[in-house]
Amino acid sequence: MSIQDFKGQRMLVTGAATGIGRACAQMLAGRGAEVWINHLGQADAAAVLVDEIVSAGGRAIAIEADVSDPDAVAEMFACITANGPLDGLVNNAGIIQEQAFLDTSEADWRQIMAVDLDGVYRCCRHALEGMSTAGRGAIVNISSELGHLGRENYVAYCTAKAGVIGLTKALAREFAPAIRVNGVAPGPVDTAMVSVEHMSQEWIAKELAIPAGRLGRPDEIAAAGCVLLSPAASFFTGQMLGANGGAWMGG
Ligand code: NAD
Repeated sequence: MSIQDFKGQRMLVTGAATGIGRACAQMLAGRGAEVWINHLGQADAAAVLVDEIVSAGGRAIAIEADVSDPDAVAEMFACITANGPLDGLVNNAGIIQEQAFLDTSEADWRQIMAVDLDGVYRCCRHALEGMSTAGRGAIVNISSELGHLGRENYVAYCTAKAGVIGLTKALAREFAPAIRVNGVAPGPVDTAMVSVEHMSQEWIAKELAIPAGRLGRPDEIAAAGCVLLSPAASFFTGQMLGANGGAWMGG
C-alpha cells in the first residue's frame, strides 16, 4: 500500500466541517478511506462536504458530537465502531481565544481545555480501545506551533496544545509498536481561526512575519497528517511534524 491508498480503511476526523479538518477529510476520502466527518452544529457544511466526497466517488458519513462532552463522544464511537474499529483518527477539532491571562476566568480556561485537550484525550481513549484489540491503527493529533513557542494572551490555548504534544508522545510509547501516534503542529493557516473573530489585527499581521511570508493552506496541513497516517510514515511515532512555514524550527 502506498501513501495514495487508504482503501478499506475507516477514518474519523473531528471538527471536519471546516478548515484543516475539512481538507484532511477530503484528502483521506480521495485516497480511498471511508471518512466519518465529525462536526458540532454544522450539519449543512458537513452535508456539503459529504456530497462533494460522494460525488467524487468516495465514502463519507457526517456525525455530530461535541468532543468536550463525554457522553456525546461515547455515543459517536458506539455508532462508528459498530462495524469494526477505526483504522485512523485525526483529532482536529479546536477553539482559540485571545485573552489576557489575568482576564481568563476558570470558566474560560476550562472551555479551552475541554475542547482542545480533553477532547483529544477522549477521542484517543475510545479509538485506542478498538485499535489495541485489532492490533493496528494510527492517530494524528493536531497541535500548534504555539504549543512549542507559547504566546502572550493565548495562555490557555498554548497550554492545551502543549498538552496535546505530551499526550501524543506518551501514547506513542504506550501503544507501540502496533499503533502509531503522531501529530502536526501547524503554523498560521488561512482558516476561520486566523480571523478578527478570534484574533486582533495586530496578531494577524504578526502571523505573516515568518520565513514563508504567508499563511499556510489547509491542504498543506492535511498533507502532513495524511503522510503520518500512511505506511510511508511506518517508522514515525511520537513525532510532531512542523508544517509551519518556518515559524518554529525546534527539534
Ligand atoms: P476551524 O475553526 O475552521 O476548525 C475548527 C473546527 O473544530 C470547526 O469546524 C469547529 O466547529 C470544530 N469544533 C470546535 N469545537 C468543537 C467541539 N467541541 N466538538 C466538535 N467540533 C468542534 O479552524 P482550523 O484552523 O481549521 O482549526 C483546526 C485545528 O487546527 C484546531 O485544532 C486548531 O487549534 C489547529 N491549528 C490551527 C491553526 C491556524 O492557524 N488556523 C494553527 C495551528 C493549529
